[in-house]
Amino acid sequence: MSLDESSAPGILTIDLSALAANYGTFKRQTRAGCDVAAVVKADSYGLEVSRVIAALENENCPFYYVATPEEALKIRPLTKRPVAVLDGLFPDMADFYIDHHLMPVLNRYEEITAWHQACKAREIALPAIIHFDTGMNRLGLGPEETERFIAEKDRFDHILIEKIMSHFACADEPGHALTPAQAKRFDEISRHFPQAQKSLCNSYGTFAQPDYHYDEVRAGMALYGLNPLPAQENPVKPVVSLEARILQTRPVKKGMNAGYGATYRFEKDTALATVAIGYADGFLRSLGNKGTLYLRGQPCPIRGRVSMDLTTIEVGHLDPLPQVGDMAEILGPHQSADDLAADAGTIGYEILTSLGLRYQRIYI
Ligand SMILES: *Cc1c(COP(=O)(O)O)cnc(C)c1O
Repeated sequence: MSLDESSAPGILTIDLSALAANYGTFKRQTRAGCDVAAVVKADSYGLEVSRVIAALENENCPFYYVATPEEALKIRPLTKRPVAVLDGLFPDMADFYIDHHLMPVLNRYEEITAWHQACKAREIALPAIIHFDTGMNRLGLGPEETERFIAEKDRFDHILIEKIMSHFACADEPGHALTPAQAKRFDEISRHFPQAQKSLCNSYGTFAQPDYHYDEVRAGMALYGLNPLPAQENPVKPVVSLEARILQTRPVKKGMNAGYGATYRFEKDTALATVAIGYADGFLRSLGNKGTLYLRGQPCPIRGRVSMDLTTIEVGHLDPLPQVGDMAEILGPHQSADDLAADAGTIGYEILTSLGLRYQRIYI
């Protein structure tokens, strides 16, 4: 017997045509001439970066962002397009970036100096992105470094300032005052860099803040199917579906308990099914006694704690009762990653980037 769908505890299906369609939705959302760059950090939010890049290359995606040099190195052979490293220029790594054709996002004054010196030593001028922090206080040049760089920028004649960027802190909260304040600050900085492309929006910003698209948006979560308009119908298609196998079923009586710690006590006679998914698969333990799986479209609440490999759900209300080998829907038509995240007290991003390694992965 070969190990295939019949042996997999879970089946993770990744719909690359939906991902390509979502890229098209970003294109339609932005004006002609605005680039839609793809953010493919963290293995494309857990979906496997080589597959995702192949799909995006077909859509003529012009630019890729990753978080780390190692991620950049992995995708460097997969595309001729520029690959930029959001975490910045790590100390003493300028030659590595140059040798491997990686573009740094320069987040600190020292990184700007280091890039300039490395380029100058080779008597070339190479592109970089300058990241200005406009109010998130995470990465990028702070207010003093920004003033200093604006005053001294002509000295850095071995850096081609291809883009300037910043990042919204609150683009997911409609009407938040910080968003226009950050854009205003970005406009003030932008005036000093007339030749550079300007980039400010992530997915939320792209869909909720059409005034701030500038020359490029950075598409992440909504490419992968998460909803960039939390209070509205999702404008993008789901990309991920996930199901897991029922390993055992059993009747339970009122007063019996389920799982580690006996944290759930049944209030009536019913039936339980034990499903082959647990926190080692990225099925978060916080879903214990909170989340829901679906069988034949019917909600089946999680009873008891999620354990490493297993989760128990109540199924007594199903007629006929489910059988060993039936597959329970974790993510699919009845439950999005955003829905599951809400039950787990987290965000869809964490559901995707936690997706485990034991599923059989199917790319369609
Ligand atoms: C991760 C990231 C993005 C993409 O954000 P989404 O919310 O997933 O669209 C864009 N810009 C920067 C700087 C990021 O770190």
